[in-house]
Amino acid sequence: MRPEILFPLFAEAKTLPGVGPKTVPLYDKLGIRRVVDAVFLPPSGVVDRTLRETVQGVVEGTTLCVKVTVVSHSAPSRRNAPYRVTVRDGVLDFVLVFFRPAPEYLTKMLPVGAERYVCGKIEHYDGIAQMPHPDVILDPAKDAPPDGFEPIYPMTAGLGQKAIAKAVKAAVALVPELPEWQDPAWLAKQEWPGWAVAVRAMHDPQTGLDLEASHPVRRRLAYDELLSHQLALALIRAKRRRARGRTTKGSGHLRERVLGTLPFTLTGAQNRAIAAIAADMGNPERMLRLLQGDVGAGKTLVAFMAMLIAVEAGGQAALMAPTEILARQHLKGLTPLCEAAGVRLALLTGKDKAAVKRETLAGLASGEIDIVVGTHALFQSSVTFADLRMAVVDEQHRFGVEQRNELAEKGQGADILVMSATPIPRTLALASYGDMDVSVLDEKPPGRKPIETRMVSLSRYDDVVESLKRAISGGARAYWICPLVEESDALDVAAAEDRARVLRHSFGENAVVMAHGRMKADGKDAAMEAFRTGVAQVLVATTVVEVGVDVPEATIMVIEHAERFGLAQLHQLRGRVGRGGEKSSCVLLYQGPLGEAARDRLAVLRETEDGFRIAEEDLRQRGAGDLLGVKQAGLPKMKIADLEVHGDLLEVARDDARLILACDGGLVSERGEALRVLLYLMGRDAEVRYLSSA
Ligand code: ADP
Ligand code: MG
Repeated sequence: MRPEILFPLFAEAKTLPGVGPKTVPLYDKLGIRRVVDAVFLPPSGVVDRTLRETVQGVVEGTTLCVKVTVVSHSAPSRRNAPYRVTVRDGVLDFVLVFFRPAPEYLTKMLPVGAERYVCGKIEHYDGIAQMPHPDVILDPAKDAPPDGFEPIYPMTAGLGQKAIAKAVKAAVALVPELPEWQDPAWLAKQEWPGWAVAVRAMHDPQTGLDLEASHPVRRRLAYDELLSHQLALALIRAKRRRARGRTTKGSGHLRERVLGTLPFTLTGAQNRAIAAIAADMGNPERMLRLLQGDVGAGKTLVAFMAMLIAVEAGGQAALMAPTEILARQHLKGLTPLCEAAGVRLALLTGKDKAAVKRETLAGLASGEIDIVVGTHALFQSSVTFADLRMAVVDEQHRFGVEQRNELAEKGQGADILVMSATPIPRTLALASYGDMDVSVLDEKPPGRKPIETRMVSLSRYDDVVESLKRAISGGARAYWICPLVEESDALDVAAAEDRARVLRHSFGENAVVMAHGRMKADGKDAAMEAFRTGVAQVLVATTVVEVGVDVPEATIMVIEHAERFGLAQLHQLRGRVGRGGEKSSCVLLYQGPLGEAARDRLAVLRETEDGFRIAEEDLRQRGAGDLLGVKQAGLPKMKIADLEVHGDLLEVARDDARLILACDGGLVSERGEALRVLLYLMGRDAEVRYLSSA
């Protein structure tokens, strides 16, 4: 239960002054539903309200406050002309400008001869200083002079700065003194203030510097947020590990058999990953491990070894793919390996014929089938396993913590291995996968030839087609990726269809097939199959090929309008080639002139094939919020922490959280109690419930 000391902060936003039935939805848009949300709304700017003597000599656009005497009023002579009030400060005359005011209001607010404090932005018009619509008008006879600095908050349509500032101020006034949850030594070393002091300071900036993410106040509050997040992930992880797991120890005989038939040896990274997985499976806690590795890094083989461990121990394993195509592809890839091992393999998808499906289900229930590959149909309630010990989930990077949890619930206590081909920077991986253990395949199988990557202007389209024609007549196979049109996949499809038509004209009717997101699965499968078997040599596609299609014979990747794709996506697309022994190439067809950002992106791609470097670069260029792979990774939305600048804190928070739970799993010590308050403060009520009742 939420501690009483937090009750005032969890009152609804409408209890704040100025927040009423009309404005509640607007505050909602700003993410302010409760008082605490306003407390955690960091100011985005600051205005200087120090009283100055004059507007003389100030730079255009400066906001300032001066004391003035009202000289005269001049009502507009024409419609749409402004109402002008001439005022005199300590040095010169200038003009307050109002568009469509209520005149009575102005004569009352600014009577001729009266003194006033006015604050606002200075602009110049015909060499005369103006202040359009002052945002503060005060009467020195009644009001204190404006002073100091005022925070500026992000606005939403319909909500003025004054209203937001007022609501936030009232919210901050409700901030209670809370017990310190940070380690005192760490706090002292960082020279950070206590929580309440930090919150008040954040809303009372004195200069622009106070708004910087590197300011101690911001860092303290960012750390609170990161620590609570990591603690929550650690609690999820601890809960899952407490759940009844299985002890699965393989004899190694099946793995040996398979490794013996492979024409290559495992990479060091593969061996390390397999060892970590085997260790996890061998202990009674439940495994949840992420296997991260670039396309072609050899994840599937690692997963297969993990599945064999389950089978060696007399159990079963399942491999879930996100689409039917990929499930079939896995089936095809695993069939020879399973034959070598003498392991029984089956496919289960939503599209199986009833009789086939019945047989598969029976085989899974009896234990006759050792390994099953399928789509999410695998986790439907009609599916029962005799003894499922390992569930592998491929390309799961689009799922967040909640979905992973859901999956874990369904897995009948089986160990879970999640594979992701989206390399994401280390800091972001920590933020989104803190609840999992992670193995990274950071070493590619040897012998891969680098993919020759070239940038070619679309104006040289004819040359590209000509050389593609030569390559095709020499037996090559090529992907041709069509531009992504953000707003509409209908447009994507039209563009792809046009391109396919034109290419058929150049290469022959049957040489070109096409696959896009709007096609029926059958048509798409048929196209892929024609391309895979070499009946067709060119596959024109929208980005559907992104998700793991494997045709080792394809050696050419043409990406049309490459400048429209993000770095991560370009990298994924390029990864479709260079999978066989042949030399591969990638043509980035761009439409000039290129903007600077697009030029940078394409240059990075030409320089490196290292997915992790590309991901770091993507992060640097675009920022965390924008990263495609990151969105897919289920990155949490942070209020104050900024993962690009607070990445160092994230690592500390991860270690801190694990240490805290190792020493005080029930959060019952004095600091533990305070940390509970932090968790509730950050809305982590659900995870507090996972605390072991130590
Ligand atoms: P990923 O799933 O990580 O994209 P795959 O597992 O599909 O990569 O592997 C890509 C290709 O590399 C497959 O054809 C696979 O047989 C091959 N491969 C895997 N491991 C090795 C290795 N250690 N040495 C050489 N080739 C390998
Ligand atoms: Mg794969």
